[in-house]
Amino acid sequence: SAADYQSKVNPSQKLFIDNEFVDSVSGNKFPTINPATGGVIAEVSEGDKADVDKAVAAAKRAFHRDSPWRTMNPSARGRLMNKLADLMEREIDQLASIETLDNGKTFESSKGDIGASCSVLRYYAGWCDKIHGQTIPADNGFFSMTRKEPVGVVGQIIPWNYPIMMTAWKWGPALAAGCTIVLKPAEQTPLSVLALAALVKEAGFPPGVINIVPGYGPTAGAAIAEHMDVNKVAFTGSTEIGHLIMQAAGKSNLKRVSLELGGKSPIVVYDDANIKKAADIAYHALFDNHGQSCCAGSRTFVHAKVYDKFVQEAKLLVANRKVGDPFDKNTDQGPQIDQDMFDKVMGLIDSGKNDGAKLVIGGSRAGNVGFFIQPTIFANVEDNMRIAKEEIFGPVQSIIKFNNEEELIERANKTSYGLAAAIITQDIDRALNFAKSVEAGSVWINGYDLITAHTPFGGYKMSGIGRELGEEGLHEYLETKTISIRTPSV
Ligand code: ADP
Repeated sequence: SAADYQSKVNPSQKLFIDNEFVDSVSGNKFPTINPATGGVIAEVSEGDKADVDKAVAAAKRAFHRDSPWRTMNPSARGRLMNKLADLMEREIDQLASIETLDNGKTFESSKGDIGASCSVLRYYAGWCDKIHGQTIPADNGFFSMTRKEPVGVVGQIIPWNYPIMMTAWKWGPALAAGCTIVLKPAEQTPLSVLALAALVKEAGFPPGVINIVPGYGPTAGAAIAEHMDVNKVAFTGSTEIGHLIMQAAGKSNLKRVSLELGGKSPIVVYDDANIKKAADIAYHALFDNHGQSCCAGSRTFVHAKVYDKFVQEAKLLVANRKVGDPFDKNTDQGPQIDQDMFDKVMGLIDSGKNDGAKLVIGGSRAGNVGFFIQPTIFANVEDNMRIAKEEIFGPVQSIIKFNNEEELIERANKTSYGLAAAIITQDIDRALNFAKSVEAGSVWINGYDLITAHTPFGGYKMSGIGRELGEEGLHEYLETKTISIRTPSV
């Protein structure tokens, strides 16, 4: 039960710098809350600018060209990464329990996240000794070649919705490239990342390669984004803060920036689809992780011919969705992350009601302790309603009607976001036309969230800059150096 796990969590959590757990310079601490109860789980040392300075200095020493990390064989780097994945697997129950306690996602989904995180680390472990430059037949008889070099000290700022998985997405490519890291977890969910720190040390990473500074965004986060000795910042979070990260990079040292931001992803169901299956795909696309996913399928476009049938199937699925204790095996949905998000989602549900969408099911809070919200469906949603335009980040499905393909693509693209899109149809031409026309970084056909370590993921438009995962994700952490040799003229 939650109480058993709670009793196992160290009540005092520290920063991780140079492979040591240390107090913050200020001595300040902040509470982290169990979203299922609203109670405090632990007090966490609160990092600020002074701590970020210490962590960046450690990362910079670890990146020195003579350091153990820089002089290590690439294959040995890969073995360290595989070791970390092995240790995460060994500790999967403990890590998953901490994740569920701090985040509120179900225990099974926490385990799923950790499995996926190990895959990402192992995928990138394999890259370590396969990072090749080119030889180039340049004019003038120069012998030219490129070297791929790690970008240096990287700052990584992650959100609370997938704490361990976002860490793996960030650490995998950075470590494979040979960078050193200062990571700030979200203030809502610092615990699982700090639990990983002990495994980083046990795996044998040299001091300073991975540093973790929990704390708040405007203080610790901003200090990372502004830091003159941070060569790259990788951020996952809201589009609003994404703007600030880029500005901070621009104002300071022009550090490289990669951003993975919000979304309002369309999932399109055609009349030739198996409607039961389509409803199930759309259900997971939206409700998985309680709707708290940047690529959630939050605009469900359904062809007019099958619209009513689809709404019925969608309602059946939600009627069977169990909301409650995330440690209970039968639970499908735990609490939302915190009071702010709870209020935001409830506010958007109210806007749906007031704007005249049809409330099919749900629409209220669940229980009276913690941040639980009933899974909710709105039908007859119009494009101009707030629930069709704004990222909700909660368990609210908006089902929208469409009539034909041309109109559909225009409407799907009419958003400043462009993270993902999906189509469910038996018509391959239609599917491929949609895939080509939709402005999104990932397009899924007859499925949703088809994300693996091997394929790039990221946003068009205001959903982000750069790609994570796959070979492209690695290149975000590499600089290219061109070396040219003047050869005797021929
Ligand atoms: P969400 O809406 O998912 O909470 P945010 O964009 O607010 O997303 O937060 C994502 C991460 O960005 C968190 O780690 C948060 O602390 C951090 N953050 C928030 N504000 C700033 C800021 N001004 N500078 C740097 N990081 C920030």
